[in-house]
Amino acid sequence: MEHLALSIRVPIEQDNPSIVRDNAKCIKCGMCKEICTNQIGVHGTYTFEETDGLAVCINCGQCANVCPVDSITERYEYPDVRAAVQDKDKVVIVSTSPSVRAALGEEFGMADGSFVQGKMVALLRKLGADYVLDTNFAADLTIVEEASELIERVTKGTAPLPQFTSCCPAWIKYAEIYHPEILPHISTAKSPIGMQGPTIKTYFAKKMGIDPAKIVNVALTPCVAKKFEIRREEMKAAADYLQAEGMRDMDFVITTRELARWGREEGIDFASLEDSDFDKFMGEASGAAVIFGNTGGVMEAALRTAYEYITGETAPDVLFQLEPVRGYDGIREAELKVGNLDVRVAIVYGTANAEKLLADIRNGTKQYHFVEVMTCPGGCIGGGGQPKDLDKDRD
Ligand code: SF4
Repeated sequence: MEHLALSIRVPIEQDNPSIVRDNAKCIKCGMCKEICTNQIGVHGTYTFEETDGLAVCINCGQCANVCPVDSITERYEYPDVRAAVQDKDKVVIVSTSPSVRAALGEEFGMADGSFVQGKMVALLRKLGADYVLDTNFAADLTIVEEASELIERVTKGTAPLPQFTSCCPAWIKYAEIYHPEILPHISTAKSPIGMQGPTIKTYFAKKMGIDPAKIVNVALTPCVAKKFEIRREEMKAAADYLQAEGMRDMDFVITTRELARWGREEGIDFASLEDSDFDKFMGEASGAAVIFGNTGGVMEAALRTAYEYITGETAPDVLFQLEPVRGYDGIREAELKVGNLDVRVAIVYGTANAEKLLADIRNGTKQYHFVEVMTCPGGCIGGGGQPKDLDKDRD
């Protein structure tokens, strides 16, 4: 690994936008350190002398997810959203990520993996959201952009290969800190939430006749790193377009756990809620977007799209049965025939695994066209803001 002190490009936050710590609650179990070291690959790569006593954080929130005593939690934003829904001058629009609907039920005592999309939408409406949209709408935009960019890179050499996915903000921050040399390889497409925000404040607002200045955009996600992502300098496309200085594309991020907490505080009986549907406009999406939540999902969706663009035919399912690679945890690879092209792909979760893959690419033992990297175990379904399962096997 390049030495951290030589390659820092982004600030190491003192006021972390993603997590907060209450050291008084800490029981020194070491679980946060274990996951940050072995799965994420950050802890242990630096010394506090090098960083003036500050911890390096890529904002994934896995430490909060494994902390058994809430000594580390995500930085709660649901009180801000609650204040916004009580403000008659605000229009609160919540966009929901795919992995929330498969996990929220666990917070209310339902079986793991219960699909509670209808109740999730109903809960948001009951809490006062004016519109409930599906971030899968923007996931489709991300897929089209990533697929088109991949085709350009492969067929015209417009940018270096392999192309890495860009939708995981913790992975992007990891690359910025530890491997700035690979930034030209990372897709220029924004993440689904990065696209959903400005699309709502421009296109949706215009179509629905809403003053964009009144919109409070909320992303409901499994992801703690999105709290960092929406506050990045670049996330102000709507402000640039509308010439509205100070406007952010997405205003708040709340996690699956935060929504459940808010619902419980309001005394809402989740199980008895009648299912509700997303708002129709920007509330519908393709099946491709739904698979974003699992590791390999972004890759599969983009390759299916690239396949159709190149061949004009629907991609056969058999292409996407990726084989695990012996000797690696969390890395899978495959070679696919896309038209006349043999496309080599890899799917990685955990930035510690990405580090191994980058070393192989660097020393020439591995070559790929397209690499998906997701930071959390199993992808966003195992995100830092998902229900805690302190007994789960993290391998
Ligand atoms: Fe967020 Fe998903 Fe990346 Fe985890 S894998 S940091 S949940 S985008």
